[in-house]
Amino acid sequence: MAETLYNATAELVKDGGDARVIRVLPDQPKGRHLAGQYGSLGMPSEVHPGRLIKRPYSLSCSMINLETRQLIDAQETPYYEFYFNRVTPRPAGPESLTPKLFRLRSGDRIFCGRKITGYYTLQDVPAGRHLLFISTLTGESANNALIAQALREGRWGRISHLLVGTNGWRSLYEAEHDALMRAMPTYRCRTLRVETYAAVEARLAEGLRDAARAEDELGFALDPARSHVFLCGDPALIGAPAKQGAWRYVTPTHGAIPILTAGGFSLRTRFKLGTIEYETYW
Ligand SMILES: Cc1cc2nc3c(=O)[nH]c(=O)nc-3n(C[C@H](O)[C@H](O)[C@H](O)COP(=O)(O)OP(=O)(O)OC[C@H]3O[C@@H](n4cnc5c(N)ncnc54)[C@H](O)[C@@H]3O)c2cc1C
Repeated sequence: MAETLYNATAELVKDGGDARVIRVLPDQPKGRHLAGQYGSLGMPSEVHPGRLIKRPYSLSCSMINLETRQLIDAQETPYYEFYFNRVTPRPAGPESLTPKLFRLRSGDRIFCGRKITGYYTLQDVPAGRHLLFISTLTGESANNALIAQALREGRWGRISHLLVGTNGWRSLYEAEHDALMRAMPTYRCRTLRVETYAAVEARLAEGLRDAARAEDELGFALDPARSHVFLCGDPALIGAPAKQGAWRYVTPTHGAIPILTAGGFSLRTRFKLGTIEYETYW
C-alpha cells in the first residue's frame, strides 16, 4: 500500500545526530529548477493510512566535490539534495515529518514532490554585485545552492556567507565550506555561534555604519548600490513583514530586514525588485 505513495529512493550522505543531509533519486528524471528554490518531501502517515505527511524543503547543494575539487552543478546531478534538522514534535501539534526523516536509512523509499518552485533565486540580481548570504541552521541549504551557482558562473563580485547557529552548532557542510574557501578566493564563510539573534543584528548594524569593518569582516562594504543580501531560515532572524489582511503588512522591529532597510537596502517582493531576498521556513 505505502509503496504506491513513494516515487524516489533516499541515500543518507551525512548524519550529525541532530541534522542530516540526504540525496533523493527520483524514479523519473529530474525536472528543471533554479538554485534557491524548494521542493517537498513526504512519508506515509502513521495516523491516516494511505495519506502522505509532506513538508517543503529547500534544494541544497554540497557546492564542491571534496575529492576532485570540482564545483558541483546541482542541475546536472541525477539526485536532489536536502539538509534538514531535528525538530521536536509539538505535543498537541499535527503529525510531524521530522521523526520519519530521522528513521530513514540509505535505500529506503520516500516521496519527493515533482513541483519545484520559489522566488529566492539569483535570477534578477545584477551582475557584479557583492553577495551576502545569512542563514540559520539548515537555512544554509538554499544559500549553498545559490553560492554554487554564483561561483560557477562567476558573474558576481565577492561572496560572504554567515552561518548562524547556537553555541556548539556546526554545519554538516563545514568541510565543503573550508574547501570552497581554499579553491575560490572570492568566497568567505564564517559561523556565528550566538545565544540570541540580537548579536547578529548588532553586527549587521555595525557593518552598515562602518564600511571598513564590513570590508574586514565580509570582504566588501555593505552598500546597497553594490551589494545584495540573501536571508534564509528562522523568521525571527529574517524579520520579514507579516501579512495582515489582503494588502496590509506589519513590519517587525526585530531581525535583519528592518536593519538593512534602515541602511538603504530594499525588500524584493513578488511585484518589485529589491536588494534583499528572503525565504522563511515557518
Ligand atoms: C519554503 C520552505 C523551505 C524549507 N526548507 C527546509 C530545509 O531545507 N531544511 C529544514 O530543516 N527545514 C526546512 N523547512 C521546514 C520544513 O518544511 C519543516 O517544517 C521542518 O522540517 C519540520 O517539519 P515537521 O513536520 O517535523 O514539523 P512542522 O509541523 O512542519 O513544524 C513545527 C514547528 O517547528 C519549527 N520548525 C520548522 N522547521 C524548522 C527548522 N528547519 N528548524 C527549527 N525549527 C523548525 C516551527 O516552529 C514550526 O512551526 C522549510 C520550510 C519552508 C516553508
